[in-house]
Amino acid sequence: MSQEANEGVCTICPYCGVGCGLQLQEGEEEGEVRLKPWFDAPVNEGALCIKGGASTEVVNHEDRLTEPLIREDGEFREATWEEALERVTAEMGRIREEYGPDAMGFFGSSKCTNEENYVLQKLARRYGTNNVDNCTRMCHASTVAALRQSLGAGAMTNSMQDLMEEADVYWIHGANPSEQHPIAHSKYFKQAALEDTFVVQVDPHANKTSRDADLHLQVKPGTDIPLLNVVLRTILDNGWVDEEFVAERTEGFEDLVETLEDFDVEEAAEICDVPLEDIQRAAETYATADNAAIFTGMGMSQHACGTDNVQNLINLALATGNLGRPGTGVNPLRGQNNVQGTCDVGAMYNTFPGYIPVDDDEGRAEVEAVWGFELPPEPGLSNVEITQAAGEQIHGAYVMGENPVISEPNGNEVREHLERLEFIVAQDIFMSDTAELADVVLPATSWAERGGTVTNTDRRVQLMRPATRVPGNTRHDLEILCEVGTRLFGEGFDFETPEEAFEELREVAPIYRGITYERIGFEGIHWPCYDEDDEGDPFLYEGSFDTPNGLGKLRGVRHQPPKEVEDEEYPFVLTTARLEEHYNTGTMSTRSPTLIRRTPENFVDINPVDAESLGIEDEQYVRLVSRRGEVRVKAHVTEDVKPGILWSTPHFADSPINQLTNDVLDPVAKIPEYKASAASVEVD
Ligand code: SF4
Repeated sequence: MSQEANEGVCTICPYCGVGCGLQLQEGEEEGEVRLKPWFDAPVNEGALCIKGGASTEVVNHEDRLTEPLIREDGEFREATWEEALERVTAEMGRIREEYGPDAMGFFGSSKCTNEENYVLQKLARRYGTNNVDNCTRMCHASTVAALRQSLGAGAMTNSMQDLMEEADVYWIHGANPSEQHPIAHSKYFKQAALEDTFVVQVDPHANKTSRDADLHLQVKPGTDIPLLNVVLRTILDNGWVDEEFVAERTEGFEDLVETLEDFDVEEAAEICDVPLEDIQRAAETYATADNAAIFTGMGMSQHACGTDNVQNLINLALATGNLGRPGTGVNPLRGQNNVQGTCDVGAMYNTFPGYIPVDDDEGRAEVEAVWGFELPPEPGLSNVEITQAAGEQIHGAYVMGENPVISEPNGNEVREHLERLEFIVAQDIFMSDTAELADVVLPATSWAERGGTVTNTDRRVQLMRPATRVPGNTRHDLEILCEVGTRLFGEGFDFETPEEAFEELREVAPIYRGITYERIGFEGIHWPCYDEDDEGDPFLYEGSFDTPNGLGKLRGVRHQPPKEVEDEEYPFVLTTARLEEHYNTGTMSTRSPTLIRRTPENFVDINPVDAESLGIEDEQYVRLVSRRGEVRVKAHVTEDVKPGILWSTPHFADSPINQLTNDVLDPVAKIPEYKASAASVEVD
């Protein structure tokens, strides 16, 4: 069915990485936007979860920023675009002149399109710095690092479609797709489970996914490596290794065997707090299936050992030959509408578009040839490092659509550091805790008002299409970035449309080279897609891996406890995860009447045994305390968590759980350890 036949504009949900299609139609009232199902949408065939269904509620919200704001004498005042842009370019120019280009940090956003992030990162490089990053650093940076090192591409190896059709076992580790990727869960995963796919879920929290699973391994936060080592040891002991696959397509198997040589499975099961026989049953189910697929989420990636966590999942898939064909693989479930694409297009401190390493001389020269200017050859600072260095090396920040005060760990310190900056420009659709600290706030258009491409969790590049008017004095992110770039540098930023920016992206990034707006159409195309005859790849590594020698890399890893463990003063492990009805720091979802009605405030899950010993009643307010701050939340007394564990969510700015979380970083991927912090609970 064509877009015209539906009398609506076909576009993509602005929330999670599933990439559901929907239709928008302008209503009769001024500014009214109506949502209609898009029954032919390739991913979801018209189905939407509560968040997608309520997504138009924020488009014309009364809190939308509609005029540029400039800070004067400590207060914001409305300004013309000319004044605002003049201030931005003057301050960026001054900082570069006084301190050099590495004194600025640039924050890209997975809420923005590929084209917008492409131009933002180009602006940073043209400014002369690689200090550019995006929110994937907070969610799957370690997954991307492990997959790139050991298989070749930092993305899902398979597509949702082939996983539903071909997998006999789903191993869902540190993810809760029924809440975090609801349509993927209901349309693909649950459907497959109903048709006899065996589901193992590994998660410290009992949730909707575990209630649908065949086996739930309720692991202690931060003990995923020993749990997987029990699985691997069981596979070795029972001869379930795919020896032919290991011999022909992998390297490093000896290292894995050596790591597990004197491994004590009973001791490890105790560390994980999971019955040994359950882990061994899960191992047998996975290893003896015809096709077994792994899904991995932030429960694995958001650890100081996140890269090693994901490597151990790769070890499991490689040792059993579960890669390179439909229904298998290692598949990260991405959290945001364009978190995959934001990395693909190079909004990262260490890679240019198409994952070309910034310190690769040959690759860098190819990018320079397209862009026509010299590029900085050393990796820059990640986003957490930018905020940690604010007021020292970093003197200014360009923040597009992000809210690090609420999203980054150790939030009180993040705020203090950002307050030290000489200049912040924030580009957004709503005022946020971070925009409140800015010197200039630029009002951007929302997802319903602008076009461009986004890349969903299974690498499908899709088109978002503008469906309604541009409100007030807002401008598209792309237009703002081009204006800033042109004022600062004269040329290289004259993209009149998103498609023009995409055409340049294709030239730079080989994995996108065969994709055009025309070819994307209404179906989308999976990258890698190297030329216009290439249909794109729904699953990867059929013949060989994308590593230098074509082999998948096994590497044994050992238990690394969280950097902060419980003690007398902080006797609990605090862990966090997302809810179906809210999104990131809540700037959009907490303004949606439907979503805020469902869950109006933050809460903490605490086991009845702990609640009783502390005298805490269900629904009572408590104070959660860590070494970094304290937050007031409502207690939810439930057996969904085991004794000693606290579980809360990061979505609420008035109860900002990331003021408590630990900002220690994984040394490889620089992702913070959100998932395990020592904490205490006090009756309020
Ligand atoms: Fe939007 Fe994700 Fe829900 Fe689909 S599953 S409607 S993409 S939030």
